[in-house]
Amino acid sequence: MMDTLDAFVRDRLAETATSNPGLHASLQEAGGMLLMGTMGIEVALKPDGSVWVREEDMASTVRQPWRIASVQERAGFLNDASERWPELRPLIPARPSGAPSCGRCNGSGYIIQEIICPSCRSLGWLVESAA
Ligand SMILES: [Zn+2]
Repeated sequence: MMDTLDAFVRDRLAETATSNPGLHASLQEAGGMLLMGTMGIEVALKPDGSVWVREEDMASTVRQPWRIASVQERAGFLNDASERWPELRPLIPARPSGAPSCGRCNGSGYIIQEIICPSCRSLGWLVESAA
């Protein structure tokens, strides 16, 4: 799995180098591929399976540093990205039988259509409350 993920991440990163050099420069700082990118947030997946987040502070011109994702963010962002890349599915933690559904989105994972739920990050259940 590790060798496969390493190659997968490097291939995606190489694609971004061609399609979006500015984004690629940011991703190189994190050392991973773009898992998700939207207004104000970039999410990167590194070859070791860790997930990193860079949030933009609208009030600041200084770029925020990459930070490691929380357990919930990692699971949710991987879940969302696995719709596009099924290769990522083995990285998503299995839902324990007693894990309650997320109350914010009623377990759907999304608020309106493609807007990721800010509580569970698309997962539909909460990792921390299940632990
Ligand atoms: Zn939710």
